[in-house]
Amino acid sequence: MTDKILRTDVLVLGGGLMGTSAAFFLRQQHGRSVALLERELIGRQASGVNFGNVRRQGRALAQMPLANRARAVWGRVRELLGEDLEFVPHGHLRCCYTEQQAATLEQHARDVAPLGLQLELFTQRQLQQRWGIFSPEVVAGSLSPLDGHANPRLAGPAFGRAARRLGAHVEERAEVLHVERDGGDFVAHTADDRRFRAPQLLVACGAWSNRIAGLFGEAVPMEARGPQMGVTEPLPHAIGPSIGVSSAIEHEGLYFRQISRGNIVFGGGLKGPADAQHVRSYVRPDNVLRQLRELRRFVPAFAQVQLIRVWSGIEGYTADWQPVMGPSARVPGLHYAFGFNGEGFAIGPGVGEVMAELMATGRTGGTPIEPFHIGRFAAVAEQGARLAA
Ligand SMILES: Cc1cc2nc3c(=O)[nH]c(=O)nc-3n(C[C@H](O)[C@H](O)[C@H](O)COP(=O)(O)OP(=O)(O)OC[C@H]3O[C@@H](n4cnc5c(N)ncnc54)[C@H](O)[C@@H]3O)c2cc1C
Repeated sequence: MTDKILRTDVLVLGGGLMGTSAAFFLRQQHGRSVALLERELIGRQASGVNFGNVRRQGRALAQMPLANRARAVWGRVRELLGEDLEFVPHGHLRCCYTEQQAATLEQHARDVAPLGLQLELFTQRQLQQRWGIFSPEVVAGSLSPLDGHANPRLAGPAFGRAARRLGAHVEERAEVLHVERDGGDFVAHTADDRRFRAPQLLVACGAWSNRIAGLFGEAVPMEARGPQMGVTEPLPHAIGPSIGVSSAIEHEGLYFRQISRGNIVFGGGLKGPADAQHVRSYVRPDNVLRQLRELRRFVPAFAQVQLIRVWSGIEGYTADWQPVMGPSARVPGLHYAFGFNGEGFAIGPGVGEVMAELMATGRTGGTPIEPFHIGRFAAVAEQGARLAA
């Protein structure tokens, strides 16, 4: 073991979009010294392989302030990072196949309007007039005109590079196996026997966060699953917005977008298995065939399109489908940002900005995150134990 121990104000574990953006904002807005430790390469896990949706509609209402804050950061990423993340605000269109679901879209539009998100509702005829290639089965839609999509491969590494340029100590291939308390500090031990210490610790280890939360008695009900993605050959340009199907039937829940090179990137529907322990996620061929059927159902002109590649990634899904964000319920200085349930990319830069502010100032600047506090799971467990007694 080397005797040299790096001590910083904050230690960030995990170099996905949450960890890298938090490290960036801790330096850029608050001047905190930061060390970020990433087990593999920055942005290699969920943050680098996701679909790239930057979507605010369709979220739990409690996430809206955070989603709005994230959208504001997305609009400034080039100026903030000096790099282009291929963020295109071409809109996000949510469509459905039934009148009943259309009513749900209308209600959502009413709910989010006072929260700062204006949605445009479309009838079947209006959808046909505007895009022309959708199947008549698509009966209604809701457009969030300022949302869009970005390139996930670029996002985490760009935040990591920018944090490093601002003086953050960013270490790749630094897996943290253990964290202990020493005086007022957290001391993280890596697999290659190095130590890093800081009075504040942010756990942003994605689907692996329970390993660290468990060291402090705060593991939450969360399972790893693998959303299924695919990409087609390039096609002539026909679609601007990122599109998703709103449905209570899981396998109907397709989403797709067309990138500047013309390829259609798609995902959604049933998720595949993911093995967090061995860092493996699997694509199920039957899911891919179902996704292609759903793609053709939505746009009949895609009937002959060729598939180029499929992939999956490892994402943490919590028992109540809401993220874990905020301070520990048990240990001063300890903070969490994980469990984003397949929709963390869109809000990632907002999560980083809010967590940095919280750790530096104790406040979240008008972005409430109390509903995501880790203590909610302990409260449910205690209630269950009382009922069982
Ligand atoms: C296939 C797929 C499609 C998705 N599509 C979308 C989408 O379109 N829109 C959207 O908003 N969201 C989407 N998501 C969800 C989104 O990608 C995630 O919510 C988000 O990227 C989570 O970021 P993170 O930083 O918390 O986790 P991750 O990106 O998983 O990063 C966690 C990092 O922690 C590291 N780590 C783990 N343990 C340790 C340790 N002990 N020591 C050091 N480092 C450690 C890991 O190596 C990893 O790099 C999708 C997810 C997947 C998998």
